[in-house]
Amino acid sequence: MTYNSIKDCDLAHKRVVLRADLNVPVDDQKTVTDFTRIDRLKPTIDYLLKHHVKQIIILSHFGRPKGAPDPAFSLDFLLPPLAKHWGHEVIIATDYNVLAEDKIILLENTRFHTGEEKNDPAFAKQLAGLGDIFVNDAFSAAHRAHASTEGIGHYLPSYAGLLMMEELDALQKALETPKRPVMAIVGGSKISTKLDLLNNLVQKVDMLFLAGGMANTFLLAQGHEVGGSLVEKDMCDTALSILETAEGAGCRLLLPLDAVTDQRNKVDATKVPATEKIFDVGPETVRLISELLNEVKTVVWNGPLGVFEQTPFDVGTTALTKAVAHATKHNNIISVAGGGDTVSALEHAGVKNDFTYISTAGGAFLEWLEGKTLPGVKILEKGECRDNKTCCA
Ligand code: ADP
Ligand code: MG
Repeated sequence: MTYNSIKDCDLAHKRVVLRADLNVPVDDQKTVTDFTRIDRLKPTIDYLLKHHVKQIIILSHFGRPKGAPDPAFSLDFLLPPLAKHWGHEVIIATDYNVLAEDKIILLENTRFHTGEEKNDPAFAKQLAGLGDIFVNDAFSAAHRAHASTEGIGHYLPSYAGLLMMEELDALQKALETPKRPVMAIVGGSKISTKLDLLNNLVQKVDMLFLAGGMANTFLLAQGHEVGGSLVEKDMCDTALSILETAEGAGCRLLLPLDAVTDQRNKVDATKVPATEKIFDVGPETVRLISELLNEVKTVVWNGPLGVFEQTPFDVGTTALTKAVAHATKHNNIISVAGGGDTVSALEHAGVKNDFTYISTAGGAFLEWLEGKTLPGVKILEKGECRDNKTCCA
C-alpha cells in the first residue's frame, strides 16, 4: 500500500490542518512528564515551515472530556513546552476562530465537541474549512474514526506527516513486505485480549514465540501442568485452534521450555508444582529463542515475557530484548516493537534506542498487528479520492 505524504505535495502558501497526538502523559499539576510525542512531531513542523506553508493549524485530543468544554482537559498547558521543544511560538484558538497572521495555532481539545467522537460530518466540514490540506501525523489515534482523524479526510486532500510515514514504513517492513524469516514474539497476560492479533500473526510470520501469561493457557491446553499460574481455562479450545491454524499456515509455534516461578524456582514449563506460578521465562527458553534469532531477518514484538514490573521477573524479558538489540546491530535484522507495557519493558532494559523501530502508538499498533485497516490511515491511501475533496496527488 502506498500513501500520500507531505513529500508529494506542493505546500507553499497552504493552510495546513495538522492532526497531532498531543495526548501526552502529565502529572497532577498537568506538567508534561514525557516529551516523546512532542519531540517526534518536530520534524513535521520544521518540514512544513521550511516549505513555506502559510499556516499550521494543529488538532489534538487530550484525555476524555465528555464532548463539552472542561478546563481540566484544556490544551493551554501545552503552549510553553511546544514553544520550547519546537522552537516556535504557538498560540491557542479556543473558539476555533483562526486569525490569518498567526503561524502555528493549536485548536482547543477536539473532544470538547460532541461531533468529534461521533465523526459528525458537519463538524468534520467545519474543521476542513480551516485549511487547504489535511496532514495526519497521529498514527496513535488512527484506529479511531473521529472527525479530526478520519472525517476531515473526506473534505480535504489528505497527506501523511513524517511521523506517520515513519510508523507506516516500519510496520510495512515488519509485516506486509518483510525480509523473511519473520519471528513474532508475543507476551502479556491474557490470550483473550490478543486473539485477533494471534490469529493474524500466525498467518503472516514464520515463527511465533508465545510467552507471558498467555503461554500458560497454551501449555495447559496441551495437557501440561502449570500449577497455580494465571490461565484462562475457557480459552483452551481457542488455544488449540490457534495451534492448528499455525500448523496449517506453516508457522512454527514456540512455547517456553522452562520458567521461573513466583517462588523464584527454575522449573520445567510443563511440570510446574501446584503451589507455584509461572512469573517469567527461564534461561533455557531465552537461550533457544536467542539462537533462533540467528536464523531470522525480522522480529516483531508485543508483550513482556513475564511479570517484568517486579524484579527478578524482569530477567527473561530483559535478556531477550538485549539479544534482539544485539541482532539488530550485528546481524542487520529489522526489529519492531510496540505496546504500552512493551515500551516500558524496553526502556527498563535500556534498549529503547537499539531496535529498528519502537511504536509508541499503543492501541493503533495492536490493531495493525491484528491486520485491521485503520480509518485514519485509510484516508491517506493513494487513489483514495472521495466525496467532494479535490485530490492533488
Ligand atoms: P502491552 O501493554 O505491551 O500490549 P500487555 O498489556 O499485553 O502488554 O501485557 C503486560 C502485562 O502482562 C504485564 O503487566 C505483565 O506483568 C503481565 N504478564 C506477563 N507475564 C505474565 C505471567 N506469567 N503471569 C501474569 N502476568 C504476566
Ligand atoms: Mg498493557
